[in-house]
Amino acid sequence: MSEAYKIIDHSYDAVVVGAGGSGLRATMGAAEAGLKTACITKVFPTRSHTVAAQGGIAASLGNNTPDHWTWHMYDTVKGSDWLGDQDAIEYMVREAPQAVYELEHAGVPFSRNEDGTIYQRPFGGHMQNMGEGPPVQRTCAAADRTGHAMLHALYQQSLKYAADFYIEYFALDLIMENGECRGVIALCMEDGSIHRFRSHAVVLATGGYGRVFQSATSAHTCTGDGNAMVLRAGLPLQDMEFVQFHPTGIYGAGVLITEGARGEGGYLTNSEGERFMERYAPSAKDLASRDVVSRSMAMEIREGRGVGKNKDHIFLHLNHIDPKVLAQRLPGITETGKIFAGVDLTRQALPVVPTVHYNMGGIPTNYHGEVVTLKDGNPDSVVPGLFAVGEAACVSVHGANRLGSNSLIDLVVFGRATGLRLKETVKPNTPHNPLPKGSEDMAIGRLDHFRNAKGGSPTADIRADMQRTMQTHAAVFRTQELMEEGLEHMDKVYARMQDVDVTDRSLIWNTDLVETLELDNLLAQAMVTIRSAANRKESRGAHAHEDFPDRDDANWMKHTLSGFEGWGGKGGTVTLDYRPVHDFTLTDEVKYIEPKKRVY
Ligand SMILES: Cc1cc2nc3c(=O)[nH]c(=O)nc-3n(C[C@H](O)[C@H](O)[C@H](O)COP(=O)(O)OP(=O)(O)OC[C@H]3O[C@@H](n4cnc5c(N)ncnc54)[C@H](O)[C@@H]3O)c2cc1C
Repeated sequence: MSEAYKIIDHSYDAVVVGAGGSGLRATMGAAEAGLKTACITKVFPTRSHTVAAQGGIAASLGNNTPDHWTWHMYDTVKGSDWLGDQDAIEYMVREAPQAVYELEHAGVPFSRNEDGTIYQRPFGGHMQNMGEGPPVQRTCAAADRTGHAMLHALYQQSLKYAADFYIEYFALDLIMENGECRGVIALCMEDGSIHRFRSHAVVLATGGYGRVFQSATSAHTCTGDGNAMVLRAGLPLQDMEFVQFHPTGIYGAGVLITEGARGEGGYLTNSEGERFMERYAPSAKDLASRDVVSRSMAMEIREGRGVGKNKDHIFLHLNHIDPKVLAQRLPGITETGKIFAGVDLTRQALPVVPTVHYNMGGIPTNYHGEVVTLKDGNPDSVVPGLFAVGEAACVSVHGANRLGSNSLIDLVVFGRATGLRLKETVKPNTPHNPLPKGSEDMAIGRLDHFRNAKGGSPTADIRADMQRTMQTHAAVFRTQELMEEGLEHMDKVYARMQDVDVTDRSLIWNTDLVETLELDNLLAQAMVTIRSAANRKESRGAHAHEDFPDRDDANWMKHTLSGFEGWGGKGGTVTLDYRPVHDFTLTDEVKYIEPKKRVY
């Protein structure tokens, strides 16, 4: 069947899939090291979801308040509810200041203090003095358009080096041979040609899979394609039950209002006009970590104190803040509030509701960006030739819950680390062995199957069914009964994919086909997410299980590994296993932070 498709071959030292913050930083690093590097991306680089990041990037520069990397480490470990790997967290927070200065020198127009240093704002869960408080100002920002500034600077920088960009190419599947990654297959969406990339290393920087849910702040392109490629390669994903809900998505629209809004003094109220966060988090209040604020909001709504006709949302107030400060520090969200909620933030409260925002889970890696798996009893066994960075990866620095502004720093720190590892492990222009026979069969077989699918269920119907199911059965509040029901329903939704209907058979800009391939990817991730969630009998970070309200370190301080078999609605079995959490640090300069009850 592959004869029907035109295959174009390429050979590279390194191929990066994804051109968001993490992919571009890895591309830059590999190219700078003299490696023959390609970057494949389904959207134009500066349209990657990183462009939407608003609030900022965390680093202990100490420009506005005293700070220290060990404080940043403490907050990140506590934020992760002790599921984060402390060696990786140490690596990230120590490298963070340098990474921010590197961005500054690359041309990111950070907001400034009077004395010319980078302006830093407070963000949820970031504190001084090893969690003791008061809040620290650690989040470096370019107004409320930090991701936009970062992505443009990184793209410009990566053009300086001789990396080849394959723009609007859709990566289909990895080429694997005996447990080693040998390359990747992609579809050129413009003319339908198939491209086979032979490479000594493939870096997956494909972002999160927020679109598994109905209401998400992430772009429609956030379909976790890299995660699904890993599942189809027979490798497991990690900690997929941990999905972050951002407290302030605009009610109805799902559009994000940055935590920077609360960082600048915004606060939440219920139908009684009460600042209820004072009850749930007496010291951090509205700046408690995201899972805590989202859960508190959900609790207020469930207990009948939501606002609006259906009492199903909460108010965010910024109207007490000096309009000049809003114009200077939060211009983007002032505009967003007007467009998506018809609200003038200087005078009115904004209707908000917890909305899916970030995936803590993803492809397990070590702090060099190398993909790891459980093999022959070794939980840290490296998969040769395969790397992952950014939201697609699970390093794991965010554990069960990510702190705001810790993702952008994760992108650049581990994007850079990956570049360094590639420099160490791949010699420029190393000759390639021939690829295994039929290396394109899986990718083309799947493409061809969907291109000719003549069922009775339009792609959009199955997608809506999945999104509704996940939103109802695997959201902020989870009970065993609710999740078990969700499992049954998801099995049915998954099977519907056998009946999918694709109407466009062409190969030129076939968005019907590409969306169907994305839906197939989303379905695999929905299946492992809800299965992992129903399996974890405790509450930790973003996974709040009503039947098991406490964290259970004795039984559950471990990473979930979830494998999946099947695609296109066939098969569909999820297998579960575990990896231990790293209970050690990287150096002797900081001690392992012992688990404590997490209160804000
Ligand atoms: C609205 C919003 C605001 C946020 N604000 C902040 C913030 O202020 N601070 C913070 O720290 N974090 C923030 N986050 C989180 C953070 O922005 C993201 O986690 C991060 O930008 C993800 O970057 P990434 O490099 O992993 O992937 P993305 O930026 O999502 O890029 C993914 C890339 O992969 C490519 N790709 C995907 N699939 C394929 C395929 N099949 N073939 C080819 N290419 C593919 C895409 O083309 C794209 O280039 C925010 C997130 C959202 C949604």
